[in-house]
Amino acid sequence: MINFGIDLGTTNSAIATFSSGDIQVFTNPLNQKPVLPSVIAFKGERTIVGDKAREYLGKEGVDVFTAFKRKMGSDETYALSQKEGSLSPIDLSSLILKELKGFIHTGQQPEEVVITIPASFDTMQSAATVAAGKEAGFTHVELLQEPIAASLAYLNQLGEQQEEHKPWLVYDLGGGTFDAAIVEISQGEMKVRDHIGDNFLGGTDFDQLIMEKILIPALEEAGHFPDLAKNIRDAKGPYRRLYPLLMYKAEEAKIQLSQSNVAEIELDLTDQEGKLVEVFKLFYRKELVKLLKKPLKRTLSLIHNMLKVQKIEAQDLDQVLLVGGSTYIPYLREELGKQLGIHVNTEANPTLAVVQGAAWYAGSLKSSLPPKKRPKTDSPLPTLEVKVAYAATTQDMEEFFTAKFTGPWKGMQYRLTRTDGGYDSGLKPLQEQIQEELPLVKNAFNEFDLKVFDPLQNQIPLQIDPIQITQGSYGITGQPLPDDICLEIDDVENQRTILDTVFEKNAVLPLKKTLIKQVSRNIIKESEEGLLIRVLEGPGYALPSANQSIGHIFISGKDLKRDLIKGSDIEITLEMSPSRELSVNVYLMMSDQEFENVFTPKKRAVHIPSLMQELSILHEHIREEIYEAEANMQYEAAQKLVDLEFEVIAVKDQLKGLNTDDITDEKFQIEAQKRQIAQQVDKLVKDKFIIKIKNRYFRTKRGMEFVMMSYQPAQSDVEAYEEILAQEKEYLASNSPLIIQGAIDRINHLHSQIMWRSPQYLKEIFYDLAEERYGKYKHPQQAEALIQSGKQAIAQEQYNHLRSCINRLWELLPPQVKTQINFNKGTGIE
Ligand code: ADP
Ligand code: MG
Repeated sequence: MINFGIDLGTTNSAIATFSSGDIQVFTNPLNQKPVLPSVIAFKGERTIVGDKAREYLGKEGVDVFTAFKRKMGSDETYALSQKEGSLSPIDLSSLILKELKGFIHTGQQPEEVVITIPASFDTMQSAATVAAGKEAGFTHVELLQEPIAASLAYLNQLGEQQEEHKPWLVYDLGGGTFDAAIVEISQGEMKVRDHIGDNFLGGTDFDQLIMEKILIPALEEAGHFPDLAKNIRDAKGPYRRLYPLLMYKAEEAKIQLSQSNVAEIELDLTDQEGKLVEVFKLFYRKELVKLLKKPLKRTLSLIHNMLKVQKIEAQDLDQVLLVGGSTYIPYLREELGKQLGIHVNTEANPTLAVVQGAAWYAGSLKSSLPPKKRPKTDSPLPTLEVKVAYAATTQDMEEFFTAKFTGPWKGMQYRLTRTDGGYDSGLKPLQEQIQEELPLVKNAFNEFDLKVFDPLQNQIPLQIDPIQITQGSYGITGQPLPDDICLEIDDVENQRTILDTVFEKNAVLPLKKTLIKQVSRNIIKESEEGLLIRVLEGPGYALPSANQSIGHIFISGKDLKRDLIKGSDIEITLEMSPSRELSVNVYLMMSDQEFENVFTPKKRAVHIPSLMQELSILHEHIREEIYEAEANMQYEAAQKLVDLEFEVIAVKDQLKGLNTDDITDEKFQIEAQKRQIAQQVDKLVKDKFIIKIKNRYFRTKRGMEFVMMSYQPAQSDVEAYEEILAQEKEYLASNSPLIIQGAIDRINHLHSQIMWRSPQYLKEIFYDLAEERYGKYKHPQQAEALIQSGKQAIAQEQYNHLRSCINRLWELLPPQVKTQINFNKGTGIE
């Protein structure tokens, strides 16, 4: 089993292990604390991690970095002021992971590990987490979503063993992220039914509010700090060292208020005139409550949205399980109980539940490493290889066990025993494959021993890991995908691009799918051009600009064996691992060419001026839609669009207030808000396109009927067409642009098939190619010969030969002419 689990948190990280049916959280050997602050300091040549690093916040001559988890998957880096170079969020995270390795006092050195991520982490953030694990020296990293981890911890060690559970809500509010998930059990396995979250909402935001609304006004009153509020977040500004210090003070006061009604804040600072300013301030719980109202409301509205989508009422939930350090806040606990009207469960340890769950999960995951080779002995006994299969966690009282042997097993015997002595299979003749039902002790960790003996009762050495089964604990069925994964494809008719959903939100990982698409323009072999297909994450109904690009698939014209002709089929196979690594293979049917691993993941980059421009474009787009909706007397839609316009304006104003060197995550938040608004706009105007595409469908049908009349289709083509028509009602009722487009594609495919079989059509194309208007062929003499040969084929009614003449003439056309004939914008597939 993997056995080691890590909570790589924004604020705090921890490491735990599963051993003999129990969880052990390792403590920091320096101070015995079970968590490590996710803080790193660089002082001279020294790298300091954790509590000590935290103490350097705001000190001169030291670079201290915090909350880098919020920037995972982005291209942001952290510059060092004391020496050359900079570090990525991945580098910093890997330093935390390495430090955590040092907590393990048992002498073990795990090569594989489970690392938790928020359920809302996107593909780029997940990939970055795996990368950090690899950088810290783990050969294999398995990701686990935090709400599942917390639920596993609660059910497996704290919860009573119930047969039936209603679904429950996990409310995880940590330092940097908010996550809520509906978790349920079916058939003894736990799964996340849905989740929602905000990657930029947590305790740090509360600290920031306290700093802005309480501390900065107090300082401004007591001393001379010009423009403090505006410049404190500027990485190059005069107050850059004040920011972490004030944040630290704010946090201290906030934590104090979870226990008492009032906190004392003391600040001793030098102002701009060099005067020492001393501030002493009492900060009351009711002031904090005022600041928390808005963020709390946001978490509740996210939860209500999720419940609505799932069509369940809060009352249908068993309870809300609290996780994350920020759920210590008493006001938050009370309000959640009041607003949701369900039991608020505070039994899980808010700061340790996630790491405990990670270790539970790690204890149920088979290691992907080959069993350690034992040192060679001089023993004359033969060795057997064995592979075993069983579930490491189960609700059943017996577990089916099977083992398969390779090697000289004939004539040998085996014996299976439970290490507590409660079960003994007795000596049995060995087979190539053996099977046993292993009886288990209820709610306990069961360990079994498998021994093999030769006819002389000598024990044969086996290379096998211990057989360990935990009864009464829950496994998980697999983790859900947080959002749709889509491909961007051409909508040739509307001269735009749209999304095709490949994997749907909440589908259980791992996932695999093969799509067949048509190339929407010619791609000439050896040309600079290529097929460039973006992969995006976000709702499939939205337009590409509303979603987040996570990378692209690229096939270069340089690698093509033959020209890729418009309309030819391309097979795209996408595969996503449990840790959400995406791999893509492409097969081009026309040239029988296969391309492996053609996906290049991307990092998130948010550039303030471009973001401003994108917001302006979105704003413009909303206005156009408002005019159109009003012109069509769709007043309700128009009103909703007006609301969205207000939101865009507010977001634009927020962005205007940011410095280009802003050190907070606000620009990422704004970028996420922009996408959300754009998605809502797309949802509102979706109908418009459905009407359009339905019209297109009818046009395609009319075209097809003309072809059927004029070009003598084969009987099989007629039948294929009838089959499509038989499903017409369903296509149209689906109201899905892509399903209707699918029908259009099938008709078009049939259309061209009939045409290419028809002598009449072949003659039309041939004469078209033979005409002067395509300019000069690359090899005029060859072309001339083909034209003569084609004419002869027509005279002799040799249509296969004519078809081949057409294909070869096409190949002889200069590339610029070929591309002229086509739609040459967009992604290249439709
Ligand atoms: P993360 O999951 O982000 O790593 P945690 O779950 O450890 O973080 O939560 C850290 C956050 O919890 C910090 O913002 C911290 O200020 C806050 N926190 C910790 N203890 C308390 C407390 N007693 N009262 C209020 N907030 C707290
Ligand atoms: Mg956490």
